[in-house]
Amino acid sequence: MDLRQKFMVEPGAKVRLSDIDPSYTGKHESREKAAPEIAKHVQRMDKLQYLLYADGNQSLLVVLQALDAAGKDGVIRHLISGMNPQGTSVFCFKQPSKDEAAHDFLWRAHLRAPGKGEVVVFNRSHYEDVLVVRVHELVEHAVWSKRYELINDFEKMLVQNRTTILKFYLHISPEEQLERFKQRIDDPSRNWKISEGDYSERELWPKYVEAYQDAMALTSTKHAPWYVIPSNHKWFRNLAVSQIIADTMDEMGLKLPPTHVDIADIRRKYHAAEQKERKIAGGSAGLK
Ligand code: AMP
Ligand code: MG
Repeated sequence: MDLRQKFMVEPGAKVRLSDIDPSYTGKHESREKAAPEIAKHVQRMDKLQYLLYADGNQSLLVVLQALDAAGKDGVIRHLISGMNPQGTSVFCFKQPSKDEAAHDFLWRAHLRAPGKGEVVVFNRSHYEDVLVVRVHELVEHAVWSKRYELINDFEKMLVQNRTTILKFYLHISPEEQLERFKQRIDDPSRNWKISEGDYSERELWPKYVEAYQDAMALTSTKHAPWYVIPSNHKWFRNLAVSQIIADTMDEMGLKLPPTHVDIADIRRKYHAAEQKERKIAGGSAGLK
């Protein structure tokens, strides 16, 4: 099944997250059965990233957005880690630093956008400026409401510069979030992930849903689509995200660049060097 079609937010369409089942797994039955398929997509991503890097003419930007504990870190750890770190990077968007806050809201995103041949993953992104900023009223309505159009123009510019953009919203239920918070409390190796803010943010769930729905409806475009990924099951989330990334990269027309060297001449040089090496080895063997 083409998961891109299934989970893509149609440009211009309204989004109702309550209509999308976060526990959806389709015909996929279990983590065990999905594992080989996920591995296959991760391998495809790795091969295609090699071509993207070698080709050096295009780039890929993956935007990950979600409420706390929905699995942004998990996607990076399990899927993106399959690609070569040379040519792949992740940037985490936190509260803007003094320097970042002194610029327009897109400045820090533009600074980290991928160059030719690169894959960049945004863990949170410029979308925080119409999400957390809107929910917490950090700027006036008149300011954030104009940002959707600015975001569309910004992304269009990146696309015109040969960047492919994929935007994922990892969709979990409030019950699943609470369960994951519990795991973070119970498992000492995960304690560091807890913050008090997690609970106050959770109280604002309906406001975040509203902000996400608007953001996706206003900025899912043909050139930079949003995908809503059912993420209550981590394995299904990994399957869907890896398949969508691999299928998208597959269609980027990536290929190895032509060589600019004379392979026949290089081969002659190689044989000459090899023969010389043999002679030296033969000579030193005779000395023993
Ligand atoms: P985490 O992703 O859990 O490390 O947390 C990062 C925090 O930074 C989240 O609470 C975000 O909402 C917050 N954040 C990211 N971008 C912005 C922004 N533009 N303005 C305010 N807070 C932000
Ligand atoms: Mg957090």
